[in-house]
This record gives sequence, C-alpha cells and structure tokens, in this order.
Amino acid sequence: MSVYLDNAATTRVSDAAKDAALKAMTEVYGNPSSLHAAGKAARELLQDARRTLCDILSAEERELYFTSGGTESINTALFSAAFKNKHLGKHIVSSEIEHDATLNTLKRLREDGFEVTLVPPERDGSVDINKIKAAFRPDTVLASFMGVCNETGALLPYGEAAAALHKINPRALFHLDAVQLFCKLPLDLENVDLCSFSAHKIGGVKGCGALFVKKGLVLRPLLYGGGQENGFRSGTEALPAVLAFAAAAKNRHAALGDNITHFKDLKKTLLENLDFPYALNSPESSSAHIVNISPQKLRSEVLVRMLSDRGFFVSGGSACSRGKSSHVLKAMRLPRENIDAALRVSFCPENTKEEVTAFCRALSEIIRQE
Ligand code: PLP
Repeated sequence: MSVYLDNAATTRVSDAAKDAALKAMTEVYGNPSSLHAAGKAARELLQDARRTLCDILSAEERELYFTSGGTESINTALFSAAFKNKHLGKHIVSSEIEHDATLNTLKRLREDGFEVTLVPPERDGSVDINKIKAAFRPDTVLASFMGVCNETGALLPYGEAAAALHKINPRALFHLDAVQLFCKLPLDLENVDLCSFSAHKIGGVKGCGALFVKKGLVLRPLLYGGGQENGFRSGTEALPAVLAFAAAAKNRHAALGDNITHFKDLKKTLLENLDFPYALNSPESSSAHIVNISPQKLRSEVLVRMLSDRGFFVSGGSACSRGKSSHVLKAMRLPRENIDAALRVSFCPENTKEEVTAFCRALSEIIRQE
C-alpha cells in the first residue's frame, strides 16, 4: 500500500481528465489550426475547454490563454506586464515567499533595470496587508502575489492588495499566482489583471496551464510563431492536456465546498494524531490542503526517505527545492532546526482519514526509533 500526501507537488490525473486526454490523442487528434473537418473538431473541443474554465472563473473566453504550465504563465505575465509599463515606472512589488517561478523572473527583471521590493512574511508565514500596502509607491507598475503559499498553505490577501495597488497607481498591473488556489478555494478575479494557473495541481496533466489576461489589456507575447491563442501564445495547442485540464477543473470546482470541508477534517486528523513534539509552520488561518510541520528530530530529507520506504509520500518543502533548505521557512525566520526538519503534507480530495492516521503512526514510529 502507498499513501500519497504530496499533492501540492503534483497530483494523480483524474479519471475524467484521463478520458478527455485519451479522446484528444486517439479520436479528435487534428491540429486546431487545420482547415479540414478534423481540425475543426479539435478547434471546437479547444473552445469548449476554454469555455468550461472561463465559466469557473466568470471570465470571457478571450481573456484566457493556454500555456505549458504555471511557470510559463508567470514568466509571460511578469515580463509582458513589466515591459508594457516601463515608461510609467520601474518599481515592482512581490513577497519573499513566492514560488521560484516568480522570484527568478523578478531576479531577471532586476538585471534588466527594474527595482524589486519583496515584502517579508510574518513569523507564522502570513503576509501582512499593511506591509504590502506600505511597499506600494506611485511608480509601482507591477505587483505579483501568490494566493496560497505552496509550502505552508498561507493565504495571501491578494484582493485587498490588488485594490490598494490600483488606488495608488490605476495603471499598475496586478498578477496573481493562483496555482495552489484554483479549484481548491473560491477565487475572486476582481481587481486582478493577470492570473496564472497550472493543470497538474488539480488532477490534470503536467505541462499545461493557463494565463488570464483582463479584457482590454494588450501585452507583448513571450513566444512567437504561428500566432495561436489569438497571437498571444504561439505553438500548437496541447489539446489532450488542455481537455484534461478543463475536465479536472470542472469536477474539482463542482465539489469545491465539500473538498474544503474534507481538507479541514484531514488537517484536524493529522494534527490530532501527531503524538510527539512538533512545530506547526503554517499560519492559523492557512488553507487546510497544505500543512507544514517540523518534528525537530531528524532532517527532512531523512524523514522523507524513511517515510517513502514505508510507502508514505510527503515532501520536505516545495518539490522544486530538492534538498535545498526552504527560502519560505528562512524568510519566516524560523529556528534552523525547524527549517531542517520541515515536512509538507498536502491533500487531494481522494485522501482519507485512515490514510492520514496511518501516516501519523508511521511518522511516530520513525521518531520514536531514533
Ligand atoms: N506557483 C506555485 C505557487 C506553485 O506551487 C508552482 C508549482 O509547484 C508553480 C507556480 C509552477 O507551476 P508549474 O509546475 O505548472 O510550472
């Protein structure tokens, strides 16, 4: 038996998503740009998928572009928005706990002459709206924040931040990284100009995502080529992955309320069944689908391997950090021993309380043996 509790890293492809992808790989496999009937059929399915996602987002179809995932969406959003606005100012605001897709893009923009202010988190992992507001200036032309932190589950006050940014500079653009929020919590795009999504965090296929660009906003593309996606994202559309994304999102969105309740139950079960001293590295008000704890005895990579040997899959931080200590926990100024021992447990709707209690038992055994 194996228990997969690393759903913030990636998820199993849902059955509906698999069926949708299979259809596009074996039946409707035309190129959506082709003029013949096979192309037309593919084009129609592509538009259906876009409509499904836009209905969930309360967005218009021309506001959503398919991409190769969260990383490409974030790169496109930040580079395109920064260069569009550079004549208005060169100041960008974000936070220290963003995903590397954001932080490394901002690093590059810094090299290109932009000034970047990164708001630090509080010790509990939350980001104070007053500190965000204080960072905004009249020459701030772009701000980017994640909705849910992929390492701690912290909820960032993106709605209030977006409204405050537009009050200071109505022409500034606000980008939301909704990779860990979409179809996991309600999403409100009011005041949000750009929003990034990834399919594989909600039961879709890896290497697929989308970027929301608010109506009326004209941006320079990152990729040039055949002019697909209304000229904004060239490259033949990954139809199987796109259809899988829409199918996965439809199911996850329909069960949103039930899933939120289920995640809260799983988190409660987890915390009640840890019978050894640990530090909780997630804020009180965090989203329940991601929980970060430090058992403080063994290093996280040792724990991850020992748990894996027993069939339990969790991670030591973000999957991309692979052994490096977490920039998020460091930014929270946690004690070294907590950072080194951190474990991230992240749920999907199919996880059960029995799986969580079995995980707690295995972790307790490992801690007691050491
Ligand atoms: N943003 C956040 C918050 C993430 O958790 C991730 C993936 O872990 C990404 C962006 C990157 O998404 P993708 O893996 O689709 O490139």
